[in-house]
Amino acid sequence: MNKEADTRNREAEDMPEPAVSPSYDFIRTIVKEDIEAGKYGGRVHTRFPPEPNGYLHIGHAKSICLNFGIASEFSGRCNLRFDDTNPIKEEVEYVESIKKDVQWLGFAWDDTEYYASDYFEHLYQYAAELINKGTAYVCDLTSQEIREYRGTLTEPGRESPYRNRPVDENLELFERMRKGEFPDGSRTLRAKIDMKSGNINMRDPVIYRILHAAHHRSGDTWCIYPMYDFAHCFSDSIEKITHSICTLEFEDHRPLYDWFLDQLGVYHPQQIEFARLNLSYTVLSKRKLIELVENGFVSGWDDPRMPTISGLRRRGYTPEAVRNFCDRIGVAKRDSMVDMALLEYCIREDLNKQAPRVMAVLHPIRVVIENYPADLTEELEAINNPEDPAMGTRQVPFSRVLYIEHDDFLEKPPKQFYRLAPGREVRLRYAYFITCTDVIKDGKTGEVVELRCTYDPATRGGDSPDGRKVKSTLHWVSAAHACEAEVRLYDHLFTKAAPNEAVEGQDFKSNINPNSLSILKSCRVEQSLTSAPVGSFYQFERQGYFCVDPDSSESKLVFNRTVTLRDTWAKIQKALKK
Ligand code: ATP
Ligand code: MG
Repeated sequence: MNKEADTRNREAEDMPEPAVSPSYDFIRTIVKEDIEAGKYGGRVHTRFPPEPNGYLHIGHAKSICLNFGIASEFSGRCNLRFDDTNPIKEEVEYVESIKKDVQWLGFAWDDTEYYASDYFEHLYQYAAELINKGTAYVCDLTSQEIREYRGTLTEPGRESPYRNRPVDENLELFERMRKGEFPDGSRTLRAKIDMKSGNINMRDPVIYRILHAAHHRSGDTWCIYPMYDFAHCFSDSIEKITHSICTLEFEDHRPLYDWFLDQLGVYHPQQIEFARLNLSYTVLSKRKLIELVENGFVSGWDDPRMPTISGLRRRGYTPEAVRNFCDRIGVAKRDSMVDMALLEYCIREDLNKQAPRVMAVLHPIRVVIENYPADLTEELEAINNPEDPAMGTRQVPFSRVLYIEHDDFLEKPPKQFYRLAPGREVRLRYAYFITCTDVIKDGKTGEVVELRCTYDPATRGGDSPDGRKVKSTLHWVSAAHACEAEVRLYDHLFTKAAPNEAVEGQDFKSNINPNSLSILKSCRVEQSLTSAPVGSFYQFERQGYFCVDPDSSESKLVFNRTVTLRDTWAKIQKALKK
């Protein structure tokens, strides 16, 4: 094999520091200490509680890896629980996609998945118990009035005029709310806590609202629905969760979580908060992702530019790479922004080991080898993966008419350009040395449309018997054998690293990158890819990693570029070390 034909990736030399072992993050430390102290009888039981109101994104992957990871490391369990208490935004499609994504990431849950909606009756009884204890009341203020009465961070709230309704009246009204006697928004059930609390969440929060809307599971059974804070702590309690892990924005809700459970003296899990994942050049909020889908900025939830798990999957990410990324970013208590280059590093590292190498020409230009017989086809041996000899070799056909990359030729090459030029000799990977002898141009435009070359039969396999050197090695395909393919190249979805920072009067959408997708329609890939299955991935030599898109058909192959070979993460690491 020739020596300089080296398309191997550079990352092996630039490995970042090994990831901090997950066992050292602060949550695992708490769990370990709790086990040692015999808290919860030494049990560990976590849950991942998505609301089925959108597809999961890479931020959710962090939470999934954390919750399922802890359960498996400490011989515990992790429930998949749908936090489905808002019938207006929730759909079965989302439930199905969430199950698929969690499984794809490599995690399994017990036979059943859990639904907060299965606890509606139970939750109703808990609410009635609060009323009985005198710590919940039916309030007739409108939502606007409730907001006005709530006060601000600097001003205490005011008590609702309905706050001191007698228990019996509250019970009766709550029951009538359930029966559907009142219109939406006309009444709520509120916890009776403290309108002067410094924590606004404790100022008599609403725990039930009237909503005449069908639910994707309970249908029309209910027209009152519990609010998140109320439903969540009791769902955790019912499932005997030990560690209820959530993101930092719930820190201020923890007193409420504890208050509800303490009021009724039921089983009491502990809530622990960690910093959510923020990733550069993208947004991780379902609300914003929905906007991108609904306004057609992307082709769907699984658009390969989306940070959703389904988008990453379609883009060619492997579950191993995503899990590795989640290990590397670790778990902390402070918000930060993770560089997209780290995610790209993780997939490159995985595909470098796994992906077969093939040759594909993205911007083809015809090359005719004038001294090669017109009726001859040779099968030349090509290595499938220099990183893994066990992946063996394959045969690639070579013939008189080939395609090479348009960029690999320049009629008037500048000094640093070592690739093909008139009169110059280069190596065709696994094949022969060729020399460019003539350039054919379009009569009208003057554009170079074809190259005429000669080959040296003595250099078969890419080695010269006389030790003659060439400065570059090009990839190529045989014109008669190659398959046509469409290749989709992706760039960041946003032009700004922090897309949420928009100029005044605009929102994150003003930072959308108009050039995040380029489609190359007439690429040529080597014959061995003819029936490449959807989802299979390859390194196109010198170009990057690519996978077969579901849009592929027998008549047309479609590839997504997962990631380029260029490793910007290694560069960032190097710069940091300096
Ligand atoms: P979004 O802000 O995207 O709408 P969410 O928190 O409303 O997310 P949920 O379905 O409630 O979405 O999330 C399920 C779980 O995933 C929660 O425990 C939540 O804390 C966690 N989670 C959501 N986003 C992130 C993130 N960016 N990083 C880490 N965990 C996250
Ligand atoms: Mg949420």
